Amino acid sequence: MKISQLGEFGLIRHLTEGLKNRQPSTVYAVGDDAAVLNYDGKRTVVTTDMLLEGIHFNLEYVPLRHLGYKAVAVNVSDVCAMNATPTQITVALGVSARFTVEDLEDFYTGVRAACERYKVDLVGGDTCASMNGLTIAVTCLGVADEKDIVYRNGAKPNDLICVTGNLGSAYLGLQLLERELHVFRSMQHDNLAQAAEQNDAIHEKFEGREYLLERQLRPEARLDVVKALRKAGIKPTAMMDVSDGLSSELFHICTQSKVGCDIYEDKLPIDYQAVALAEEMNLNIVTCALNGGEDYELLFTCDIHDYEKLVPLDDVYIIGHITDAEYAPVEGDAKGTAASVPPSNLRLIPRNGNPMPLTAQGWQAF
Ligand SMILES: [Mg+2]
Repeated sequence: MKISQLGEFGLIRHLTEGLKNRQPSTVYAVGDDAAVLNYDGKRTVVTTDMLLEGIHFNLEYVPLRHLGYKAVAVNVSDVCAMNATPTQITVALGVSARFTVEDLEDFYTGVRAACERYKVDLVGGDTCASMNGLTIAVTCLGVADEKDIVYRNGAKPNDLICVTGNLGSAYLGLQLLERELHVFRSMQHDNLAQAAEQNDAIHEKFEGREYLLERQLRPEARLDVVKALRKAGIKPTAMMDVSDGLSSELFHICTQSKVGCDIYEDKLPIDYQAVALAEEMNLNIVTCALNGGEDYELLFTCDIHDYEKLVPLDDVYIIGHITDAEYAPVEGDAKGTAASVPPSNLRLIPRNGNPMPLTAQGWQAF
């Protein structure tokens, strides 16, 4: 169905039909000029992430349903990284004429699934026509008591450095999808049957790799870990989600906390499917784990006295510890702002034991 058949308001009504609010803080959601929220004296956190077709996703292999889910999950992940509870989202879409109502329904199926999974309410947004491609902007709100909020700047020497899940899988999932896309594009498709046959051949190559594809296409925010930490009585001293790669995130925490770190190569959690694919593609798995982005795991530091409470937690791994910064202001940096003075003491301890400097490659969007 053409979007014009429904019109903007008809479309919004159609896409948000039957949504139920789960959060007591949602006073009024979709339907007026703005949503009305009541947080009862708590602190509110707000985060926005934008996803652009051709820059952040490729619809040649990304299903719209997964994209809807991911757009919500990555925002929820940022709220989790503040040690807050996600409560509401807004979704804004720029949609070109090539998308139908059914396409948007598909996208919203993913959005709704994520809302259900993370118990957030969809309370507003915007849907516009755009010249080309698909633009997605999701904003997520969350709440926390002031004393519970965790920033990036609280890490101190001797703190343990922890990461959840495993690292590098999403990056390897992307490499696999990109490789097979190039294979598919380079093939001759004389007829539909031939294209379908080649498509089947590619799907065979995905067998046994489903986990990596899932990590790339449909990542989860680690709200479960935020809850588990709270239950165990652990408040991290600093926290971030791993969206740009572990090295890059460590760099942020160390810079803002004015500390250094030692990370142990043999402690990095890595999935066996990731190891196998990295080998096949001649990629260094440690580099993938350190610099591949989009894992959406949590990276946090906590006091060494929390060690006993930390060990029984599921899917949380201690990968190193915080050290002194050897923090030296750079010449010409009159103000000495934390952001402009990199710490000099970020180290990776490889299996052979000779420390090497950890370099933040990260994801360069520009
Ligand atoms: Mg983040």
